[in-house]
Amino acid sequence: MAGSRFLMVGAGLSGAVIGRHLAEAGHDVSVVDARAHIGGNCHTERDPETGVLVHVYGPHIFHTDDAEVWDYVNAYQTFLPYKNRVKATTGGAVYSLPVNLHTINQFFGKTMRPDEARAFITEEQADTSIAEPQSFEEQAMRFVGRDLYEAFFKGYTIKQWGVQPAELPASILKRLPVRFNYDDNYFFHRFQGMPEHGYTDMIAKILDHPRIEVQLETVFDRAQAGDYAHVFYSGPLDGWFDYELGRLGYRTLDFERFTYDGDYQGCAVMNYGEESVPYTRITEHKHFAPWESHEGSVCYREFSRACTPEDIPYYPIRQVREKALLNDYVALAEQEPGVTFVGRLGTYRYLDMDVTIREALDTARGFLDDRAAGRTPPAFYTAPL
Ligand SMILES: Cc1cc2nc3c(=O)[nH]c(=O)nc-3n(C[C@H](O)[C@H](O)[C@H](O)COP(=O)(O)OP(=O)(O)OC[C@H]3O[C@@H](n4cnc5c(N)ncnc54)[C@H](O)[C@@H]3O)c2cc1C
Repeated sequence: MAGSRFLMVGAGLSGAVIGRHLAEAGHDVSVVDARAHIGGNCHTERDPETGVLVHVYGPHIFHTDDAEVWDYVNAYQTFLPYKNRVKATTGGAVYSLPVNLHTINQFFGKTMRPDEARAFITEEQADTSIAEPQSFEEQAMRFVGRDLYEAFFKGYTIKQWGVQPAELPASILKRLPVRFNYDDNYFFHRFQGMPEHGYTDMIAKILDHPRIEVQLETVFDRAQAGDYAHVFYSGPLDGWFDYELGRLGYRTLDFERFTYDGDYQGCAVMNYGEESVPYTRITEHKHFAPWESHEGSVCYREFSRACTPEDIPYYPIRQVREKALLNDYVALAEQEPGVTFVGRLGTYRYLDMDVTIREALDTARGFLDDRAAGRTPPAFYTAPL
């Protein structure tokens, strides 16, 4: 007999935002998470030794064009101005990313203006003999030419995805990946910032409602679904089905943590473009909170590799094999009563935080509308395919 409570599997952004919305609509909500903390992969915690706020599962910068989502997060936390300015070390020099006019002038030892740089890249550097690029490599060669491709795209992509760029689809690089001005802000979005006390503090406030109860270190088992009026599941889609059709492929990350007395690299994120350097980037967490001041520093060297069943799934691979398998899991999910699959793992997509919140709000609203109209809630409010 189904209970009257709703269950959120996962205390990340998806579970917290949906849970809060349903609680405010007068429903009782349980939230469970296998981990010992809330916040999912956005989790932040203070390092007791240095006082630095650490992005435990990798660097997270909030950016969005969605005014409702921006107002939503600001209702739970003060967001302080933050621009993501990434640097890259390659070929014995440090450059500015994304590749911009500064990078181009420095890399080629020139002093070009925007129009000159555009002509230089598109007429002298780009490989115009490639009429219809078939792979990521050909697309990059066609757009920027061999020199920039090898310095900034090739090694990084091999390390990040574990495959040669010639085996990746051209569609990954949709448009010219360089800027012909000095704009080094990584994101184009209108609203950008960092939560003053971190994402976990913000998510704790979202979950702070008398109708919400949270249980940590609690692994959900599908057999418990019947105890609830409906389940919102932000765990891995294939995990719900005990991987009966096989595993959806992911990349995982290893973070090699080290501390430093002072300022280790002078910026939050330093990428390493060369394949000979085994890590993709180094994150120095204190630079994500420039309004704080700390003597000590906490850094992560980040390594990417294939995800095994014991690892945390980070980036969905979503190539041909995975999409076929995803199709089969979606068909199974659509036969499953009483559950809606949400979030980055439940829909097997890379989702930025703002998109996660947007989808969570839309899911909660759609669910309440369906319930009011006596309709059966669907397995997905956002199609994973
Ligand atoms: C390395 C990295 C960097 C990122 N950087 C950015 C960034 O800069 N900006 C940005 O906007 N976004 C970024 N993101 C995306 C961001 O992490 C996601 O948008 C967000 O985490 C999605 O939230 P979620 O609740 O859907 O999933 P998660 O945060 O993954 O939460 C799911 C939760 O479910 C729990 N769970 C799973 N299965 C079970 C089970 N069976 N029982 C109990 N609990 C379970 C997990 O423990 C987890 O806590 C980044 C992602 C990664 C991987």
